[in-house]
Amino acid sequence: MAPAVLFDQGQIESAVVRVGSEISRDHPEGVLLVAVLKGSVMFLADLVRAVDVPVTVDFLAISRFAPDSGRVRIVKDLEGDIAGLDVVLVEDIVDTGLTATFLLGHLRALTPKRVRVCTLLDRARRRIVPVDVDYRGFELEDDFVLGYGLDFQERYRNLDRIITVDPRPLADDPDLHVGELFAPERP
Ligand code: 5GP
Repeated sequence: MAPAVLFDQGQIESAVVRVGSEISRDHPEGVLLVAVLKGSVMFLADLVRAVDVPVTVDFLAISRFAPDSGRVRIVKDLEGDIAGLDVVLVEDIVDTGLTATFLLGHLRALTPKRVRVCTLLDRARRRIVPVDVDYRGFELEDDFVLGYGLDFQERYRNLDRIITVDPRPLADDPDLHVGELFAPERP
């Protein structure tokens, strides 16, 4: 399966503007956006500029013990105190829901006023644990996606669009699509 564009720059921009206005509408007094490194960095950078209420940002970084294991470890914690604040957790993709559930538990233990969940991509059909997603950019089917922050072994995050790709050949050669995707005549 050749890489194919799923969401182009224009579609991503419209989704980010819509989600930004939904977050602004729900937080007239201001909001803290907590982004999960590294996949949600591109989304956060655009989202923060689409929010028109007072906004601050902080970051969490995690590492997974194994895919889909639900065992997640925090390798970089928040810098600020979130007690009493309105927080939105910003994810790249909620898939099984295991990561978001773990992170919500972590954040709620820090006694914010409220934590809502925002994700660029929501693949609800793969859910193992339910997650209440308050803000979503796009719904996804089964396709594996790359770009706009989403990686395969750290590659492809810098694509300006979201593509679907067969991940199996990438396991043997993670750079397989780098040449064609970043060439001037690109899919
Ligand atoms: P969950 O705990 O919800 O299953 O995991 C979400 C994480 O899995 C995302 O933050 C992302 O790192 C990874 N992930 C899930 N689906 C995809 C996908 O289609 N493409 C990429 N690049 N990562 C994915």
